[in-house]
Amino acid sequence: MRLKLVGTVLQNSEREVFRLALKAFTDQKKRFFPHLDDRVHDQSTEPESKKHCVPQALPASNQEELSDCKTLSDVLMRLEKEVPNLKIFTYERLDWLKRASSLPSSANESPLELLKEHNFHSSSKLRPGLQNTVAADKVSVIELLFPSIFRAIVSLHPVGTIEPDAVAFFSPDEGGNYIHARGSSVYHVFRHITEHAGTALQFFLGIRTETSLYFLLHWICSYQTLFSKVCSKCGRLLAMDKRLALLLPPVSRPYRHFFPTVTSSAQLISSTNEQSSDVVNAYHIGCFSEDAQ
Ligand SMILES: [Zn+2]
Repeated sequence: MRLKLVGTVLQNSEREVFRLALKAFTDQKKRFFPHLDDRVHDQSTEPESKKHCVPQALPASNQEELSDCKTLSDVLMRLEKEVPNLKIFTYERLDWLKRASSLPSSANESPLELLKEHNFHSSSKLRPGLQNTVAADKVSVIELLFPSIFRAIVSLHPVGTIEPDAVAFFSPDEGGNYIHARGSSVYHVFRHITEHAGTALQFFLGIRTETSLYFLLHWICSYQTLFSKVCSKCGRLLAMDKRLALLLPPVSRPYRHFFPTVTSSAQLISSTNEQSSDVVNAYHIGCFSEDAQ
């Protein structure tokens, strides 16, 4: 059953990822990429220096932009612009519970169901013209959805702030009242990512509260290649986890030197392998170590 799920999701998501990556590349301008190489080297040699400031590789203009990300609307609208294949929805806490219970819990999510699902909640999407549907100061739950790949739920505390307090990953085909930021997926693969995401969240909060939400959401988005990016250590997509006796994709992604990057049309032209999420390494549970970060 679980193996079957991985196989099904794998096929669908690979196609989806490729299609969405193409779209992302054509939509975005080259922004952070020229500095990536410097950043990786800098951070590997002096990790401590990153704890007290915005990473130095950011161009001055982008540092200003990030400091402008002071409200929830700023953060989400920026994220929406930077990760075009992502669907972002916001909810008050009780509205989320209703939504979670209404999610289709089917292992065979069809494109039609997905479409209905999106239409159902498109009105609550946080957009400039629609913010009065869910006032930003009442948002307590953020749903990040990559169709056919995963759904992540982030809760905010206090309500309406840019302070994340919990995060959980689920399959897009799960539904029920256990789907919330402190819930646990029925699938091992998402349970492991959720566990890992909990430590990433604490890490981002520890660096800088003001940027933690932006960093966390971008880090979550790096999992859009969950079923297509091979392990940075062993080079394989699926590996047998001996403890669980399950085939799993690389579920651990480093967060210590993570920095949000934006896909660009320039990258598409140079190589389809250089999409922004590919700069984040991915590891199987057994291949991941603190050293690898
Ligand atoms: Zn591996």
